[in-house]
Amino acid sequence: GGMTEDYRPYEQYRVVKKTYGNSLKIPRATLFTLVRNEELYDILVSIERLENRFNGKMNYDWIFMNDKPFSTEFIELTSSMVSGTARYGIVPYEHWSYPEWIDQNKAQAVRESVKFSRVLYGSSESYRHMCRYNSKFFYHHPIMDDYDLYWRVEPNVDFMCDILEDPFRYMADTGTQYGFTIAFQEFYTTVETLWKTSMVYFGNSTIKEQLPTRNLLDFISDDNGRSYNMCHFWSNFEIANLTLWRDPMYENFVDHLDHAGGFFYERWGDAPVHSIGASMILRPEQVHVFGNIAYKHTVAGTCPLDDDLFKRARCTCNPRGDWTISSVQHCNLKFLRASKQQKMKDFNKYFN
Ligand code: GDP
Ligand code: MN
Repeated sequence: GGMTEDYRPYEQYRVVKKTYGNSLKIPRATLFTLVRNEELYDILVSIERLENRFNGKMNYDWIFMNDKPFSTEFIELTSSMVSGTARYGIVPYEHWSYPEWIDQNKAQAVRESVKFSRVLYGSSESYRHMCRYNSKFFYHHPIMDDYDLYWRVEPNVDFMCDILEDPFRYMADTGTQYGFTIAFQEFYTTVETLWKTSMVYFGNSTIKEQLPTRNLLDFISDDNGRSYNMCHFWSNFEIANLTLWRDPMYENFVDHLDHAGGFFYERWGDAPVHSIGASMILRPEQVHVFGNIAYKHTVAGTCPLDDDLFKRARCTCNPRGDWTISSVQHCNLKFLRASKQQKMKDFNKYFN
């Protein structure tokens, strides 16, 4: 039987593994996957790739999170493939349902409207709960209290090079708060009022004076904050420090967004929400693009623009197909400019 509103365990199951590669578990970091039972075989692909390319020697924990109970089959097959401890969390009801200030009839009318019928996931209710969950709740799940850093992994992703340098270590050693691989442009119709609503919050004078004098505003705006240029970190790959989201500066921001209703009345994605939050709150050097990680999900992939690394890391991707140097998408380049971060060693060889 299913779980009722009254009884939901936070942690449905835990498969503890003996670990050898990183027995001290430093940093306190975990892989994190929000996933449905139906996606079992798609997530097995992602686990196989990341375990082979990285985690098989590091044995970090892997958290699976679901708004419904996991099936026994899901737990058995995923836990046998994870080299670290596998944990199965359940989303609390309050984190995956409507807040009382949302007009559910209006939300339904929006999903049925012509405007959203052709927008990716525009008519989906669960997708909206998912985006809101990733924007404001996952980092409050009690399981996450055991960690400082997380790496988000989705079903059906690929890692095409060995990951030679532990990105968690990199984050901890450099004080990086947010790491990504691909920056993308959002569909305007999903976020029509997101910028305006965000700037009501960040434009408030007491908030403003707490922001760093240099941030990444130039990554998300081409006109010094008047409008949103639709650039965002593609959050299906995301390595971040949980303290960034637990900071009242972010919490109050996302609360403000939630009350404005755009998660349901529009289709605000967690990617633009995280990106606007991180870009406003952090200093440029606290955000890092992992150019040495080859990553692919659906339409876009990255491949290291570094011929020596390519060989050392046994890559199988084609650097000429690297999304971040494609002429249609400029957000990664914009990030490099805004953050003054170095391009990969052989960038100029592949950029045309
Ligand atoms: P896309 O990457 O934007 O196309 O969206 P996905 O369909 O991949 O969803 C993003 C992430 O949320 C993936 O990890 C999905 O497995 C997960 N997800 C999406 N919808 C649901 C849902 O209704 N329940 C659960 N448990 N996970 C979901
Ligand atoms: Mn996806």
